[in-house]
Amino acid sequence: MKKKQKRPWGVFIAILLAILFGSLVGDKAALFGITYYEMVDILGRLFLNALTLIVVPLVSSSIIIGVSRIGGEEDFKRLGTKMFGFYIGTSLLAILIGLFFVNLIAPGMGQLPHSEMPAHGLEGSGSSLLSTLMSIIPSNIVNAFSKGEMLGLIFFSLLFGYSISKIDSGPSATLKSFFEGLFQAMIRFTHIIMKFLPIGVFCLVAKVFMTTGIRSLGSVSLFLLTVLLGLVTFMFIALPLLLMWIGKVKPIRHFKAMSPALLTAFSTSSSSATLPITIECVEKRAKVSNRICSLVVPLGTSINMSGSALYECVAAMFVAQAYGIDLSLTTQFLVVVMALITSMGVAGIPSASLVAVLVILKTIGLPPEGIGLFIAVDRILDMCRTTVNVFSDSCCAILVAKTEGEKEVLASDPVYTPK
Ligand code: ASP
Repeated sequence: MKKKQKRPWGVFIAILLAILFGSLVGDKAALFGITYYEMVDILGRLFLNALTLIVVPLVSSSIIIGVSRIGGEEDFKRLGTKMFGFYIGTSLLAILIGLFFVNLIAPGMGQLPHSEMPAHGLEGSGSSLLSTLMSIIPSNIVNAFSKGEMLGLIFFSLLFGYSISKIDSGPSATLKSFFEGLFQAMIRFTHIIMKFLPIGVFCLVAKVFMTTGIRSLGSVSLFLLTVLLGLVTFMFIALPLLLMWIGKVKPIRHFKAMSPALLTAFSTSSSSATLPITIECVEKRAKVSNRICSLVVPLGTSINMSGSALYECVAAMFVAQAYGIDLSLTTQFLVVVMALITSMGVAGIPSASLVAVLVILKTIGLPPEGIGLFIAVDRILDMCRTTVNVFSDSCCAILVAKTEGEKEVLASDPVYTPK
């Protein structure tokens, strides 16, 4: 864990150097006949390819093991309905808050010069909504996997995970351990790619500053502000209101109970790494029963990513605004649905949302390079959205526990128990 905390510095330094380098060098300077712009462009694309490479196995294995874990439980239906209701409800709420602020502030407007905008824009995106909906149930799963069609992949993974939980225990255990292994291997794989994050960030940010110059920092800080406003509204207003109205508990007690987990989430940028502390806080400090905590928190860690969902929505809208796309209601609806669905497939590891944003950009017909517009502030926002992800998971656990009649939950101030 100590190693991980060093990483943001590398990324921060890479960002500063890229801003300086990009602004000073511009897009014309060359070395041995190759422009610096071409160099960072190629390396940036390679980094993006590496990120995209892990999407299919990471998302599918994460969902399959998440669902296969709870599918066999006796109370599965009732608890499952409640859990998914809260997961989807809170994530949707977060996305809508993000959508509100990104429309209000419009941080992407005027971000790119006209020459950079795609010639066709989102032409035909209305009719593509139908084909997107059709792709939810693919007729050929290998085809869906090979094309990286996320909706079909998620649909298949959900049903496959559920089916695994319903078959004989022998083969079920084999499949579970296979997908658990695949998931763990993909997490390792991600860590390897993340070692190159400073280089990838440098290239993507430098490219932006070579073409748009220092003025793009203004828009990036506006993007930062938009995301932060959304996250703060969701975490400090929306979720506490839900805790009060549905859970009938004092939100301040819950903040106190969760503080160790929230600080860990902020410093590691990984809700998976924070999971053991989240469980301890929810069970020992907020007093949720083990039966509910052991089900709601781990599953929430893999599929309830409210902060990430909000971020994905704002990021995709930001890029669309920057590319001068006409953001019709259909497009915005598509972004909301995609943010909701892809956030469920986001792994609880640093920078995982970047992959989801790539998927959304692809769906609405925008170039993947678009993420270069905001990657400079991704790391700091990752720390914040991960904290929100963890807090949202813990709130879902409280809401499920309270609606299941657990009286002990947050009945008194959490007691600090030094280790
Ligand atoms: N870092 C986030 C998490 O672990 C995922 C993301 O990139 O949004 O929760």
